[in-house]
Amino acid sequence: MRFNTLVLLAALAGAGYFLWTRLAPPPPPPPPPPVAAGPTQVRMTCPACGGEGQLMLIRGHAKMDKPYACPICGGRGFVARVPPPGAQACPDCKGMGKRLYNSQTQRFVNCPPSEKELAARLHGSPCQRCGSTGYLVKPPGR
Ligand SMILES: [Zn+2]
Ligand SMILES: [Zn+2]
Repeated sequence: MRFNTLVLLAALAGAGYFLWTRLAPPPPPPPPPPVAAGPTQVRMTCPACGGEGQLMLIRGHAKMDKPYACPICGGRGFVARVPPPGAQACPDCKGMGKRLYNSQTQRFVNCPPSEKELAARLHGSPCQRCGSTGYLVKPPGR
């Protein structure tokens, strides 16, 4: 009698195990193959502020120096773009689409600005060379 009970229990356990394996969720499907590389976003550190996101208005006296948001990157320190294939970063604006402009001297300022240039509050001016896109696309066949 006792032996039969054991057999019954073993049979129940076996059936339970069998059902459990049948009801267990299937293994997760394999990950999908990698998608063909599309246009990649290029993240460029701002050459005007060196990634700081701000420029310092230098007044020649440390206490009067005043930081202000970088007019080239808008204070982010970088510019992210998705350039078309074959595009090259514009040499005038270094891919920023904007150039530093000194409205006092009415001259463009090269990046990074010198201490002398930082004595005036600089502005961002759209880059003429690349039409503010930040990159140049070579015409085909050249
Ligand atoms: Zn900047
Ligand atoms: Zn440009």
